[in-house]
Amino acid sequence: MNKGVGALNVGLIGIAGSRATLETPALLLDATAFERNVATLAALANEAGIGLRPHAKTHKCASIAKAQLAAGALGIACAKPGELLALFEAGINPLMLTAPVASPRKILRLAQAAALGCELTVVVDRAGLVADFAAAARASGTTIAVLVDCDTGLGRTGVTTPEEAVALARMIASEAGLNYAGVQAYAGHAQHVHSQDERRRVNGAANERLAAIVAALAKAGFAPKIVTGGGTGSHALDFQDQLLTEVQAGSYVFMDEGYRPVDLDAGNGPVFDFSMFVAVTVIAHNSKGEAITDGGSKSFAIDGPQPRAFLDGKEIGIIVWVGDEFGKLVPHEGVSPPPVGSHIECTVPHCDPTANLHDVIHLVRRDRLEAIWPIEGRGRSD
Ligand code: PLP
Ligand code: MN
Repeated sequence: MNKGVGALNVGLIGIAGSRATLETPALLLDATAFERNVATLAALANEAGIGLRPHAKTHKCASIAKAQLAAGALGIACAKPGELLALFEAGINPLMLTAPVASPRKILRLAQAAALGCELTVVVDRAGLVADFAAAARASGTTIAVLVDCDTGLGRTGVTTPEEAVALARMIASEAGLNYAGVQAYAGHAQHVHSQDERRRVNGAANERLAAIVAALAKAGFAPKIVTGGGTGSHALDFQDQLLTEVQAGSYVFMDEGYRPVDLDAGNGPVFDFSMFVAVTVIAHNSKGEAITDGGSKSFAIDGPQPRAFLDGKEIGIIVWVGDEFGKLVPHEGVSPPPVGSHIECTVPHCDPTANLHDVIHLVRRDRLEAIWPIEGRGRSD
């Protein structure tokens, strides 16, 4: 062991300073844009008379979930049990798990969380899972709210026919320990369709399939109290259609380059602002004089269009990848490579998996670092 190394080996990320002197790569959240996004969707939902259950798969962060709840959200949606349990431990409630699970241990842990006060809603897509949640709820001395998961075109999870949905609803309602609460149908295939007209067509077709399921459930005496689904791309369409009782949008808090070409504009300019950035530093110039930065695929999820780079608030180019740890600035015409040591802020290709790469979010307002928020669910894809 090398004596005395301990104190040197503490990471520098998260040590407070001003925005421009943050150690990089660092995940930034622009407070003004973030607060505006949360308020904008809350106001639109309110106007439509439809609830919001923002999806925490995007941020995995209790401080952000708290802001969404403070703006009137009905609760927070989670993709995985680990993400949900991390947020419950951090004080978030109510929580909804939006995907089926197949692990007896996970089912038991969820039921135990419910017994400890988690106002839990889960989804089921098969009879066996109804029985498993019921047994776990009874063993834990609790009740779990259950939705029938429906596939209206995404092709991921859920039943596809009204008959299957009615059969599952009947089964849920007959089980002690379970509370039949309605249906979920997430039209994920509609969210990133670029043109508004085409998105309206794809989302409309999904909502038609869902409407047939909802009608069959009502006819059989299982009118759903909760009809949950939707996302950032479909939120305006879902508010118009008035079929969902709540929308599970996630990406709207941050925005990313994947959502930028999606025409969300209702005629008044961009609906949501970019609030998530990764700050990087120019660490070298290469033999061609190009600026090399200290952020690659370990700091950005790279499954999306290239990040745009900003210097002192001005867009100067895009970043291309030159390794897991490095990027290269491709400057816009007329821009010369910034000097070594320059602090550059970049948009992200895909927000949800980018948040999952970082331990903390640096909340920044203008040139100030205002807070450092832990990302409690980071790495919890279990
Ligand atoms: N609901 C579910 C079930 C999802 O899987 C997702 C994202 O993949 C969302 C909601 C949120 O979608 P978005 O980030 O497009 O708003
Ligand atoms: Mn996404």
